[in-house]
Amino acid sequence: MPVPPPDTHPRPDWLRVRFLGGERYQDLKRLMRTLDLHTVCESARCPNMGECWEHGDDQPDGGAHIFARTIEEIRRRVPGCKIEVLIPDFRGDWNALHIVLEASPDVLNHNTETVPRLYRQVRKGAVYERSVELLRRSKAAHPEVPTKTGMMLGLGEEKEEVLSTMQELAAQGTDILTLGQYLQPTREHLPIVRYVHPDEFAEYKILGEAMGFKHVESGPLVRSSYHAFDQAESARR
Ligand code: SF4
Repeated sequence: MPVPPPDTHPRPDWLRVRFLGGERYQDLKRLMRTLDLHTVCESARCPNMGECWEHGDDQPDGGAHIFARTIEEIRRRVPGCKIEVLIPDFRGDWNALHIVLEASPDVLNHNTETVPRLYRQVRKGAVYERSVELLRRSKAAHPEVPTKTGMMLGLGEEKEEVLSTMQELAAQGTDILTLGQYLQPTREHLPIVRYVHPDEFAEYKILGEAMGFKHVESGPLVRSSYHAFDQAESARR
């Protein structure tokens, strides 16, 4: 017998929850719309949204201790496993950054995503200078931890902008750079402005290594963690 879609079933009493959202729920909802963010909470129409969102925003340290605990736990359970963490900018909370660095990841990755001119369009809410500062501070505090960053190309950046951004990232002592072609995941995402030719990606690799990056992974299919194992090896040399 065909099973009717779940929404046509009357909900049993135990699944009817009193909506607990108040002011903080509304604040968070506004923030999501302002930054054009999507969450699994909304996409899944989770019945706990009122309660969860009313608790307010992020962890006080931006989740840094979760990164650190995860690194420690993986080290304990899988000795020898290489660990790369892809971290946010912690909104400039440098104590949070140090919590992650103290856990000694094999690679500390923080994506720059695009050139500074396109930040408003591509990385709403992020600050290019803050990302650069994060890379600089990481290297200064823990030179033994390889740092990594990356950009997606094809969003409207000029070649000169890519090169000057690469130069600035290299100047922070950043060890690894990834460059890949942006592909529009859904119609709601930014459109592709151009497809960068593989020859141009190859040129960025040569120029990037001359700028001082120990490893540049550059090509249309490159993504942030593509070939990550090889990068960790070369950045330690
Ligand atoms: S339980 Fe809370 S955090 Fe998890 S999806 Fe539902 S609302 Fe979001």
